[in-house]
Amino acid sequence: MTLFSKLQRVRAERDRLVAAGIDPFATAIEEIYSPTEARIQGRRVILAGTNNYLGITFDEACIAAARQALERNGTGTTGSRMANGSYAGHKALEMELAAFYEKRSAIVFSTGYQANLGMISGLVGPGDVVLLDADCHASIYDGCRLSGADIMRFRHNDVAGLDQRLHRLGERRERTLVVVEGLYSMLGDRAPLQEIVAVKREHDVMLMVDEAHSLGVLGAGGRGAIEAADVMADADFVVGTFSKSLGSIGGFCASDHPELDLIRYVSRPYIFTASPAPAVIGAVRAALAALQARPEMRRRLWDNAERLYARLEALGYAVGPEPGPVVAVTLDEVPRALALWQGLLAHGVYVNLVLPPATPGSRPLVRCSVSAAHTTAQIDAIGDAFAALGEVLEGAATAVQP
Ligand code: PMP
Repeated sequence: MTLFSKLQRVRAERDRLVAAGIDPFATAIEEIYSPTEARIQGRRVILAGTNNYLGITFDEACIAAARQALERNGTGTTGSRMANGSYAGHKALEMELAAFYEKRSAIVFSTGYQANLGMISGLVGPGDVVLLDADCHASIYDGCRLSGADIMRFRHNDVAGLDQRLHRLGERRERTLVVVEGLYSMLGDRAPLQEIVAVKREHDVMLMVDEAHSLGVLGAGGRGAIEAADVMADADFVVGTFSKSLGSIGGFCASDHPELDLIRYVSRPYIFTASPAPAVIGAVRAALAALQARPEMRRRLWDNAERLYARLEALGYAVGPEPGPVVAVTLDEVPRALALWQGLLAHGVYVNLVLPPATPGSRPLVRCSVSAAHTTAQIDAIGDAFAALGEVLEGAATAVQP
């Protein structure tokens, strides 16, 4: 056994895929034409695996804001805000996020991953408890690990299970943080937030909601699942990312608790990394303004999402429990998922392949993300590609329900 032994196992897996003519995890986007089109393997394809929910990455106002910030403030901050100071843009964005969520304040992190790492490890520590939905994202799990707190899980969206665990915790509830996502990234289903909030209130515990996939997507004002469920005030900590509907990179947390500001002094993922570059902050601020000013983007996204979901469901694919911008197809075995992913690419459609163990129920997924920028013709072309591959999956696609 050497340090490299575990990597040899990965090599064997990868070589097996490459020998079969597939390497989904090394896909090169050779040229990007628009939020919905790129060149991959020498061919123009429709992008249906981007998380670019509002299709805002080529938005003129966002590009202009990024360019202006770049020209005025330079290419990078070259350090952490704690050591090198905060730029005016960082602070302005934090105020805009706080106002957007109707919270007292907000903190900007360099990525969404770091927002979860930084918030969870800043809030809880050894002796505390994090009670999280089992399907939470890796960044939430990693934040728990970094914190040294006791990690407990409840079954995905199982509010009774959450309640039961909280009862068992007794006095430890005072030092417990519950973490859920607004809209889950793999199957696109939502958390039952009203029920979760009722349990949170009964046990008087803190609640963190990760709105990575629901910001700009759910709620009348695009504030996410907490707005859609009318529980904005009950989310002690709202976490999210700039890398999906806001089309850039970075993350944040908004909260009414005055202690939020103190997190900056203890959170290693906030302190020991460089702050977001000026162009990033410029683009995010313009995207946040566009999200609020142009609700028609959200309507367009939902029209597209419902159209694709209905088509795949009618074709007999095992789609997730409800329509939404994440339209995922669950397969019963990995070779079929690989065949579907590869077949879709051959038909000019790029989607995400997600393999166990990173999937709910440890079954492979072919995951589409829908964008407001997709035309109806593109949505239909994605559906046609799935239709053409129905035979490849004969007997399997309908057999598995997530
Ligand atoms: N939280 C959730 C629920 C996510 O799905 C992701 C990324 N897929 C993140 C956090 C991390 O965000 P980022 O990629 O912006 O670092």
